[in-house]
Amino acid sequence: MIGNSLPDAEWQHAEGLKKVLAVLGDAYGGPRYVGGAVRDTLLGLPVADVDIATALVPMDVIDRLEAGGIKAIPTGIEHGTVTAAIDGKNYEITTLRRDVATDGRRATVAFATDWHEDAARRDFTINALYADPESGEIFDYFNGLGDLAAHRLRFIGNANERIAEDFLRILRYFRFFARYGSGELDAEAIAACAKGAHGLTALSRERIAQELARILSLRDPVASIELMITNGVFAPFLPELSGSAAHDLQKLIAREQQCAQIISLPARFLALLNRDAASVDKVAARLKLSNKMREGFARRLTAPSPKPANIRATAYHADIETARDVAMLYATDTDVPKCLAQLEQWEIPSLAVKGGDLIKLGLKAGPMVAKTLQAIETAWINEGFPDIKRQNELAAQTVNAALSDTKDA
Ligand code: ATP
Ligand code: MG
Repeated sequence: MIGNSLPDAEWQHAEGLKKVLAVLGDAYGGPRYVGGAVRDTLLGLPVADVDIATALVPMDVIDRLEAGGIKAIPTGIEHGTVTAAIDGKNYEITTLRRDVATDGRRATVAFATDWHEDAARRDFTINALYADPESGEIFDYFNGLGDLAAHRLRFIGNANERIAEDFLRILRYFRFFARYGSGELDAEAIAACAKGAHGLTALSRERIAQELARILSLRDPVASIELMITNGVFAPFLPELSGSAAHDLQKLIAREQQCAQIISLPARFLALLNRDAASVDKVAARLKLSNKMREGFARRLTAPSPKPANIRATAYHADIETARDVAMLYATDTDVPKCLAQLEQWEIPSLAVKGGDLIKLGLKAGPMVAKTLQAIETAWINEGFPDIKRQNELAAQTVNAALSDTKDA
């Protein structure tokens, strides 16, 4: 049951938070918690970030924090956001706002003192809940409580208009839908997302990529991704989406759950795409993905088709996480658990035989040493990483073969 006052939760007891609230004082009725912290506490979910709304203007917020010995960072001062950093935690304090102008990408805002006005410019009813830190009283201007209880995601106001103000709200819709939207589908909102999807091209690629990453990192975004596909939301920024994206993502997530594996963002991303390095590169370039992500893609795409017999070799050439993802993405149903078993409680070994050992066996220092060492390593990998005894045998054999080759030449 969702009550109409804020339940007690651990985050509210942080000394740093109490200090921040104390220095903000009680002008204009005092600050209120807003957004995710209120929503998730009402649902009994853990809270990572606490957002605070205040009628004080940003300069006043900064002055009060500094006078109280709290570090104030002007993170988004033109939008009214000041971050209070205390005891290793950050609290985002944002001045009440009203939109003056919007262009689908950014808003020009004016500071305000009216809570209802501030609520009206937020995206969804469940994100526009405020709570009084002292009394726990909830301020709900758009029936967010009712929607939260019904797991219904609803735009505040007219969905088409709200999307035209900021096209990112389309992707936010599908992100919050994946988190909270198990209830009735809002056909009008979905239609508005479909209609506005072309506007996503107006956004920076980084913002699109960040929001997509957030969707893909959720426990189970399949229903959202399916809705995005059927409503043409991917087409403007991800035409490379594979024909079986929803199915492949669902398969990956089912395997993650069965095998109790942690979510890997590169793997989830790849599940949406064809296993084709050139096409994946194009996507990565368009969405300006980080080098780390691109390298993660490349490692997973260049690995051979996963089998229990070669999965350790994949881990050896890349790393355990890559090998695990490759198995989860591309192995057959019966091979997945077998591949994972190969990786479990196994540490990537290193070849104990060194160049010096080969010289002791009679090789001359020079390029032959590296070449022979490589041949030994390949044989060692093919034999499944045997121990030092077998490595020495392989070394002796390979050196002898190399020596007789040079004699023949
Ligand atoms: P999360 O748990 O993902 O942090 P959140 O609700 O706190 O959820 P944020 O993205 O941190 O989401 O944004 C904080 C609040 O700011 C939202 O709850 C919403 O009220 C408002 N908000 C954020 N982005 C937008 C947007 N593009 N349009 C309208 N309101 C927004
Ligand atoms: Mg937040």
